[in-house]
Amino acid sequence: MNIHRLRAFQDNYIFVLHNPATHQAAVVDPGDATPVLDWLDHHGASLVAILNTHHHSDHGGGNQRLLQQFPAATVYGGAEDWGRIPGQTVALQEGDRVVFGDDAGEVFFVPGHTRAHIAYYFPPQTSTDWGDLFCGDTLFAGGCGRLFEGTPAQMVASLTKLRRLPDTTRVWCAHEYTLNNLRFAITIDPDNAALQERLHRVEVARRHDQATVPSDLGLEKQTNPFLRWDHSAIQSAMQSQTPDQTFARLRGKKDRF
Ligand code: ZN
Ligand code: FE
Repeated sequence: MNIHRLRAFQDNYIFVLHNPATHQAAVVDPGDATPVLDWLDHHGASLVAILNTHHHSDHGGGNQRLLQQFPAATVYGGAEDWGRIPGQTVALQEGDRVVFGDDAGEVFFVPGHTRAHIAYYFPPQTSTDWGDLFCGDTLFAGGCGRLFEGTPAQMVASLTKLRRLPDTTRVWCAHEYTLNNLRFAITIDPDNAALQERLHRVEVARRHDQATVPSDLGLEKQTNPFLRWDHSAIQSAMQSQTPDQTFARLRGKKDRF
């Protein structure tokens, strides 16, 4: 499967999964139908599935219009989101699988940003391949989502699941927030050389309007403070005693950044 990144609104990304052999496509978090319909039209592809990570309208606001054109498409979303995602037909739980052609995605239940948020992980098909993680607004490049409906402890548990995936995983998060995230991260973890280097690279990329998504999970583990709540540098910067407290203080600081 090929993955294509589309822009929507100010800073959202929508991802199209495409199987050129069968001319079938699936789409992750279509907040807006227009760029998706344009892409499908241009590539002669038909939409067989919508994969939603959570109910926010910048992620599912395009569902209905896509369904008007492709009424047979399956609409996946978390079980806890039933009734909140337009047109949802399948209620997914942790461990469920989503099949698209020869590929199968695994579902992770990752509450925190919302109480129902899920992520989709497509493992590599060969030992040299990379995996693909569609994590919505849970994990961002250099950051994580705001806690609208969940607690810090829930988000820590969710990010712990994602942190267990291989370093060789592409992270397809739903927003271009990377530069701001890293500018915050460097205030917390100023001596982290990998982070300094990453911030510099992202500044250059954004100056040229280049996307910083997908990111890779190995780099996130080294540089994203929201995956490093249990590292001593982060814990001492937050003057906290426990990993959960570190995470809560970090998230609070970022909210006010
Ligand atoms: Zn959201
Ligand atoms: Fe969002």
